[in-house]
Amino acid sequence: MPDITFPCPYCKQPLEAPSDMVGQLIDCPSCSKVLEIPVHSRSLTSPVPPPRRAPIPKGQAQKRSPLANILMVAIPVAIVAGGIAGHKLWQNRQEAKEKWAVEHRAKMKELDARLQELIDDTPPNRQPRGRPGVTYAQYNQIKTGMTYSEVVSILGPPDEELSSMEMAGFYTVVYMWEGTTLGGNMNVMLQNNQVINKAQSAL
Ligand SMILES: [Zn+2]
Repeated sequence: MPDITFPCPYCKQPLEAPSDMVGQLIDCPSCSKVLEIPVHSRSLTSPVPPPRRAPIPKGQAQKRSPLANILMVAIPVAIVAGGIAGHKLWQNRQEAKEKWAVEHRAKMKELDARLQELIDDTPPNRQPRGRPGVTYAQYNQIKTGMTYSEVVSILGPPDEELSSMEMAGFYTVVYMWEGTTLGGNMNVMLQNNQVINKAQSAL
């Protein structure tokens, strides 16, 4: 039974928790920030000792305890408090979106660097492939946003898939085409079946 109440120090959402959880770190169910259940909480019940609960292991109590999350009960007693909490939730979602965008840009930079590595690592002494290689003019026709089949309609099927990876719902694959000259080659990077990058060497 919840028997102490206290406001979240961040979003002021009134919260209830069992008194035997004092000092534990929990996630605020309203703003998701980590907070400690304060010692000087107001008791809601008579001085009857609270029912004993199985003690939480020491290591677990220091972390965000899933048990604590389940036991925590948010009580929206005031519309104002609810409004603030709602705004905080919205703010947190915005922050999460921005964080994702920053991380995504960083990932794309990594992919760019990887593409250049792949181009640099392509050995120049492959066996002749028995059909004409791609030309610089064909390379120039490949535009961002093209699909795999549009690319293939210009270059023909790729000679090799150099890498593929799945990250946060983005499937990224890099294909290589050999050029007409010895060691000449080009790569195209597609993400979710759209060209996002290309590179060439000695075409
Ligand atoms: Zn909060």
